[in-house]
Order: sequence, then C-alpha cells, then structure tokens
Amino acid sequence: MSERLGCRQVRRILQSFLDGELGEHDVELVAAHLESCTRCRVEADMYGRVIDAVRELRPDLDLAGYTRLVASVEDAMHPNGLRGDEPP
Ligand SMILES: [Zn+2]
Repeated sequence: MSERLGCRQVRRILQSFLDGELGEHDVELVAAHLESCTRCRVEADMYGRVIDAVRELRPDLDLAGYTRLVASVEDAMHPNGLRGDEPP
C-alpha cells in the first residue's frame, strides 16, 4: 500500500495521534509521514513537549481540549494552512 498523508492531513490529526486516539492504521500513516517530513516532526515534537509539560504541572487538565485549543490557535495564525511538501 502506498497510501500517504499530506502535511495538512497529518496536522489535522496530530493531536489525536499524540493523545493516542488514532487507530493503528492511522498511527502508522502519521508515523511514516513524521519520519520523512522534518517540519511535521518538529511540530509533533513541540506538541509532545507541551503536552508532557502540562501533564506534569496540571494532571487534572483536559489535555485533549488543550491540544485542540493549541491547534486552533495555530490555524488562526496560519489561515492559509501550512503548505509543505504537499502537491498543489
Ligand atoms: Zn509534513
């Protein structure tokens, strides 16, 4: 199978990926993308760090909601989306 995700698709489900909410198939697709895409890897790394830090400081916090908040702030900052190596 040569199914591949574009950067936008990866970023859309990145929070779920980090929250462990994705199915095995999607996890593999995202992991494969992160392996080949530095920009998304940096992004995932950043989310991961934020989540780890918040989890440590505020174990009572709803992290799924928090990561979605971060994602929507990112969307607002990049209204045109983050176009990386995705074909037009
Ligand atoms: Zn990417």
